[in-house]
Amino acid sequence: MQTGKINVQTENIFPIIKKFLYSDHEIFLRELISNAVDATQKLKALASMGNVKEELGDLTIEVVVDKEAKTLTIKDNGIGMTAEEVDKYINQIAFSGAEEFVKKYKGKTDTDAAQLIGHFGLGFYSSFMVSKKVEIITKTYRKGPGSKAVKWECDGSPEYTLTETERSQRGTDIILHIADDSLEFLEEHRILDLLKKYCKFLPVPIRFGNEKRWEKVEGEKDENGNDKYNETESPRIINNVNPAWKRKPADLSEEDYKSFYRELYPALFEDPLFNIHLNVDYPFNLTGILYFPRVKKNFEVQKEKIQLYSNQVFVTDSVEGIVPDFLTLMHGVIDSPDIPLNVSRSYLQSDANVKKISNHIMKKVADKLEDIFKNNREDFEKKWDDIRIFIEYGIISEPKFWERAEKFCLLKDTAGKYYTFNEYKDAITAAQTDKDQKLVYLYTTDTTEQHSYIEAATARGYSVLVMDGPIDNHFVNTLEQKFEKSSFIRVDGDVIDKLIKKDEQLPSKLSEEEQNQIKPIFGEIAGEANYTVVFESLSETDMPVQITRPEFMRRMKDMSMLGGMSYMGSLPDSYNLVVNSNHALISRLKETENEEDKKALAKQLFDLARLSQNLLKGEELTSFIKRSISIIG
Ligand code: ADP
Repeated sequence: MQTGKINVQTENIFPIIKKFLYSDHEIFLRELISNAVDATQKLKALASMGNVKEELGDLTIEVVVDKEAKTLTIKDNGIGMTAEEVDKYINQIAFSGAEEFVKKYKGKTDTDAAQLIGHFGLGFYSSFMVSKKVEIITKTYRKGPGSKAVKWECDGSPEYTLTETERSQRGTDIILHIADDSLEFLEEHRILDLLKKYCKFLPVPIRFGNEKRWEKVEGEKDENGNDKYNETESPRIINNVNPAWKRKPADLSEEDYKSFYRELYPALFEDPLFNIHLNVDYPFNLTGILYFPRVKKNFEVQKEKIQLYSNQVFVTDSVEGIVPDFLTLMHGVIDSPDIPLNVSRSYLQSDANVKKISNHIMKKVADKLEDIFKNNREDFEKKWDDIRIFIEYGIISEPKFWERAEKFCLLKDTAGKYYTFNEYKDAITAAQTDKDQKLVYLYTTDTTEQHSYIEAATARGYSVLVMDGPIDNHFVNTLEQKFEKSSFIRVDGDVIDKLIKKDEQLPSKLSEEEQNQIKPIFGEIAGEANYTVVFESLSETDMPVQITRPEFMRRMKDMSMLGGMSYMGSLPDSYNLVVNSNHALISRLKETENEEDKKALAKQLFDLARLSQNLLKGEELTSFIKRSISIIG
């Protein structure tokens, strides 16, 4: 028997490991199972090179809970270790990693410590987070002298023992004697949850206990003549060793991709829109499948996230930094051995490989979108309402994505027709170029509320874009900056004649003096805090009084509501009350002698204008209706 001290330089490191990694105790299971998988894969590799002659047998890794003995055991039939190897890998190499970690940790504040976490994969030693004693029983695949089974034992102090032992089979058992404050790890459901979280797609079968199932007994019926079932038990294998992203795209059907989606997100009922299979080996290694979910207004899908794996071991589902921000709402998996198991946010942000991965993913997504757009425009248009949020967000936030998306981003008009930017430009140039040769894009944010304006604009032969998405405010701003010599005006931004400013101007039937007489009447009725009274010489058939929302003030208000400029938070809604100086009713207003009658007429016109805008509500609406009835009566 050999006894020893793992390292003389540091005293007891285990309490520090334990305290330090506190928030992430469960990680130990992932680390130990990864080691078991590595040992199994190494064995397979050796066998394929002819270095292991014997039958490999069943390579299933087994996880066993013994509640009475308070142990949790991870068993593999991998390459195992000789006594020498235990000494080298466990006592020296792995330990020095743990030791380095403790040295760095000492004398640091908690915030520094949080930064450190990501840089140390404590691997095997993380088992001391939950154990008061750990045993390794291992037997190497090698033959000959020095190949006897050995048992390593350590109780959390730097002293260990290493003794010869009996083990018939090649492989390793890691036996954790669970500490009293970690008894949760003896609960079957807790372990099962962890296995499902971290090990769902590991390349070696993982068994955890048995599964009960009801199996039909062929040819037999029960006393009531119904089919007969027997309860059977079979090993519960918790993982799919050959997940879709590891397979060749050529071997996968649409249905395979869909069923893998369901495997990933059992809680989602809707099929994804389409998928992108990633497969890169240079300058970094990356495989994965990304799915475009059906977003629309279904915010349920936002709960599910892209999962990051490293060699099929689950790492995290917060992929910020690895996937461009605008794609974090996508679903699927990314697997890269170049991303270490223990990732920290600061690490991700500084790593050049990770930046490359992010750019690559953006490029692949753009390729796929362009591909669907080019080869099946009809399908692309059908998917548009679901994917536009990604594309718009990408255009707003990533100049590189704009360069690609410029060609396939679509605009939809109120008639439901889709255009690319270029197609749209061609379609509206004739009618919507103003006197300064600027192209005016008209849009609506709400086809119901702005209905009367849309109707007026389309009657003029103008096209109105539907911009009712959650980020369309920003999107409009971005497009205005990207498109040369153009401006965007919401369809209620001005009266129809002025939306697109042309040279021709109708003569006004009211002189300036007459306008100045009428102005205060409307000013008083409407209230000057919210309304600015302006006169326009419009067509006689246009409405006598209209309400518009000047584009600039409205955008300021929208931005302040988004929290962009808090000092603007108290901005009132500001409207223009536009009086049509050529309308017969305005002439009548001018000629009305009686002050009361004048006010009543102006009030009625103002209320009608508000009514058409959905601005007349509550008590004011009630009294408007009463007043209208008495006028008719
Ligand atoms: P890492 O896995 O990052 O190398 P660990 O501390 O987890 O670090 O493990 C240290 C070493 O111990 C491994 O590299 C491996 O050589 C050896 N080892 C650990 N677990 C096993 C196992 N189940 N079978 C064989 N060797 C193992």
